[in-house]
Amino acid sequence: MKLTRRRQIVSARHRFATSQGGITEKESIVVTLEHDGIIGRGDAVPSALYGQSLEASEEALDAMTPLLGDDPFAVETLIGRLIERCDAQRAAIAAVDSALHDWIGRRLGLAVWKLLGLERPCIRTTFTIGVAELDEIREKVDEALAAGYEALKVKVGVEQDHDVLALIRERFDGPLFLDANQAWEPGEAADKVRALARFRPTIIEQPLRMAEWRRMAELRELGVALIVADESCQRPADVVRLHGIVDGVNIKLTKCGGIREALRMIVLARALNMRTMLGCFLSSSLAIAPALAIATLVDFADLDGHLLLADDPFRGLTREGGLIAVGDTPGLGVDLRKADARPLVSSGSGNG
Ligand SMILES: [Mg+2]
Repeated sequence: MKLTRRRQIVSARHRFATSQGGITEKESIVVTLEHDGIIGRGDAVPSALYGQSLEASEEALDAMTPLLGDDPFAVETLIGRLIERCDAQRAAIAAVDSALHDWIGRRLGLAVWKLLGLERPCIRTTFTIGVAELDEIREKVDEALAAGYEALKVKVGVEQDHDVLALIRERFDGPLFLDANQAWEPGEAADKVRALARFRPTIIEQPLRMAEWRRMAELRELGVALIVADESCQRPADVVRLHGIVDGVNIKLTKCGGIREALRMIVLARALNMRTMLGCFLSSSLAIAPALAIATLVDFADLDGHLLLADDPFRGLTREGGLIAVGDTPGLGVDLRKADARPLVSSGSGNG
């Protein structure tokens, strides 16, 4: 198998911010796996929050190349081997996992969701409203509602939370997911959560810092909303650790290492009677497609990373109102909008 990679930069339609800061663009690494005349693709979207970076991902991809062998069908063995070798760079592993699934689908003429024994994904996604000035929030919410989104996710954990939520609740009565992105101290979080009850949130995500995960149990007992762990839940074993502490987990392929590991997390969470959510970062639809392929398995999908972009380089996913879907095109169902002229870097060549 031949693995090549190139950097890709995408721009957000509006500056995108959380309680931890904001971005206007996002750089990632598009991975192409070629074997037997067929190619499969993945997009590595590293996050510094989890000790990942573009450079470390590229190094990991180069280290993975000699481990790939010549059987792309052996995904289970391959991903196990990559985790053993490059455990810390799971965004890079997720990109290879995506490319393997895409390759197999294209080779067999089957959509990845079908290959996995699932229904065609046509699912409701939340649309995220980032931290911004009130005027901008009003504009974004009106835009989202006009576009037909039926569930909103709002980034909270800043001073003006209540003004923002009051503004949103004046306009929108549907499901509201709140994400604090680790903003609160354990001593203040219970009051913060209680005060949010009047906005009737469905979910409050990651109210405390990732290391303070035990304290989320107290917030769960308030009964204001489902408490969901995101930053505190990265890999399959974390689901077990968080059982009894939170109501649910936000699973992201870049945190856990792709479809294979995400499926394990979903199975564990369901067996433990926990709610499941699939999340993402600001990213191209190539990064969203593998999550969408398994999204019929979860309770909540927050897969709007590509919908926040001004210039998604890939096409194939569709949206109608608040529903996103993929057809039965073989593989992940996404392709480049236009051929990319930039040179590919062979993984293992050591430059780039
Ligand atoms: Mg989150």
